[in-house]
Amino acid sequence: MSNDCPDCTQARLIWHWGAYHDGCKGCQTRALSKCLGFWQSQRNGRLSTEYRAALQTIFGEDWTPGHEAVKAEAARIEQLKKGASQ
Ligand SMILES: [Zn+2]
Repeated sequence: MSNDCPDCTQARLIWHWGAYHDGCKGCQTRALSKCLGFWQSQRNGRLSTEYRAALQTIFGEDWTPGHEAVKAEAARIEQLKKGASQ
């Protein structure tokens, strides 16, 4: 998975970076990690229909690694956020 667009570069440093590059998987992953469907899915312990559909749109039928990437991205942003508020 490529994370090389300018918005991904900024987002690695700034947790609340809110710009996304069209067609960039890294940005799409980041956008999903902030969407409501993802958080609902995490809370409920199962994927919501909407979130799963979004995963399939971005990653295709083989979306499981994509979901793992979204979880990793959410965790990374949380860490960055904690570091920024200290
Ligand atoms: Zn990007």
